[in-house]
Amino acid sequence: MPLDGPPKPLNPKKKPDEFREVDYLMCSQCGTPCYVFEMDGSRITEATCLVCGNDEVRLFNLGEESGPDDE
Ligand SMILES: [Zn+2]
Repeated sequence: MPLDGPPKPLNPKKKPDEFREVDYLMCSQCGTPCYVFEMDGSRITEATCLVCGNDEVRLFNLGEESGPDDE
């Protein structure tokens, strides 16, 4: 059968990533990686820690932060 158009690329990229993909958030209450969350761009919109029940997005940090966070 004839090919219809050029072959599709194996790994099509929608667009260059503006923000780094976040794998998890760190719950700053108990320090547990948290995988239940929603983000809007680089901003956390929803997050829930299954360990301590924390659901305040202010109390989560991006897991990819480098270095200790002194307060
Ligand atoms: Zn927690």
